[in-house]
Amino acid sequence: MAERWDLVVIGAGSGGLAAAKRAAAHGARVALIEGDRVGGTCVIRGCVPKKLLVYGSAYRETLANATSFGWELGDVRCKPATLLANVRAEVDRLDGLHVGLLVKAGVELMRGWARFESPHELLVTSAEGEQRIDANRVLIAVGGRPVRPAIPGAELAWVSDDLFLQDDLPASVLIVGGGYIACEVACILVGLGVAVTQLVRRDHLLAGFDRELSDAVQAGMGELGVSIRFGAAPVRIDGSPGILSVDDTAAGVHQAAAVLLATGREPFTAGLNLEAAGVRQEGARLPVDADQRTNIPHIYAVGDVIDRINLTPVAVDEGRAFADSVFGGKPRRTDLSLVASAVFTQPELASVGLSEEEAKRTLGAEAVRVHRARFRSLALALPQRGPRCLLKLVVEDATDRVLGAHMVGEHSAEIIQMAAIALGMGATKADFDRTMALHPSVAEEFVTMA
Ligand code: NDP
Repeated sequence: MAERWDLVVIGAGSGGLAAAKRAAAHGARVALIEGDRVGGTCVIRGCVPKKLLVYGSAYRETLANATSFGWELGDVRCKPATLLANVRAEVDRLDGLHVGLLVKAGVELMRGWARFESPHELLVTSAEGEQRIDANRVLIAVGGRPVRPAIPGAELAWVSDDLFLQDDLPASVLIVGGGYIACEVACILVGLGVAVTQLVRRDHLLAGFDRELSDAVQAGMGELGVSIRFGAAPVRIDGSPGILSVDDTAAGVHQAAAVLLATGREPFTAGLNLEAAGVRQEGARLPVDADQRTNIPHIYAVGDVIDRINLTPVAVDEGRAFADSVFGGKPRRTDLSLVASAVFTQPELASVGLSEEEAKRTLGAEAVRVHRARFRSLALALPQRGPRCLLKLVVEDATDRVLGAHMVGEHSAEIIQMAAIALGMGATKADFDRTMALHPSVAEEFVTMA
């Protein structure tokens, strides 16, 4: 007879880990199934190793500015192989840490890939064999995978996962895409001494963000040395790894040692056999209601597989809200109304609330007031080089309520995280104005803006 669990969670990424531990804390018997390492995209091949690479690559600009502050540096060289190895070691440490936390929480970790046999039965397959389990409830938290465009030679290129598997970096990389991953990786690679060309099919970067901010990031990336070609998408890739050639729609031909396709991600439901459970999909995504429930009442889903807001903290909160509601007797829903996000480009962009474009589209241009400050921060006063900061508040004129706070520049993610609290409490521009400035700082410009 198959073992029966109160909850079976499929996928040990951010959402699955959070839900499994919280449900176990509420007293549920929980099994968590994972065929890969523990931690998911964020820990293994996303946010965490990416940010470590950002810190590593940012030394280039710090060192370039150091002489203005009286530092005489000798022969300074970057060894990306050391950075990549150290980042991998840190990811190994975190993988082990998460396994330990599951043990402490009393969650049973099952290594293998899950497949529905019926709405309540799952088959878990691993190198050791097959195991059949029964679940009163199932949470699908399998995340997403990078998508390669359907062009000849796409298989010759890297996707973002591959970046973290490299022992060293090539001399040149062509990056396709203008989104989060393309822009972040372009800055990382250029900082580590790689020649980077970026092909963007639109006429600007970071679609969906406030346009003035994406223009500021673009200017900064240009100064950093990223060669950006707009209005161009690849049509074919030829050659072999080490010497690749990319033809684009603008009739250009580019040579590079490697090509990175950062052309989006999609839910990873392959192999789950959702038909056997009767779970309905919309394309690749799993639609859910506000309680994370699929069309099958005892099957829930959180995180990138529902393709709503694909960010780690959102997946974590969805997982905990599910566990609190179903096993903790404290029904609650994830609040998606003011989700801050950041793009860890150099310069960094962070944003919460409505962009100027969204606010004007929703309320009408005359109903919206925009306040901005553009300046070179004190950190760059001596070198007199590097990107300028842009801080921007989007305000509803009639109520004085701040609808959006946006920033490009140093520490913008840290600053916007705090601004998000104020916006969530309904802060007005007058509330910002009567807040005493903390001087000298970059963030003070948010409370001294004309
Ligand atoms: P995005 O959707 O952000 O960007 C995809 C880019 O690829 C867009 O510029 C898109 O153009 C372009 N594109 C798509 N198809 C093609 C094609 N066939 N040819 C040429 N260009 C193409 O996806 P990412 O992969 O960058 O990131 C995936 C998700 O991961 C993000 O949405 C985000 O949720 C998450 N993420 C978050 C980060 C953070 O919070 N800092 C960091 C990294 C990822 P177009 O705009 O015209 O469609």
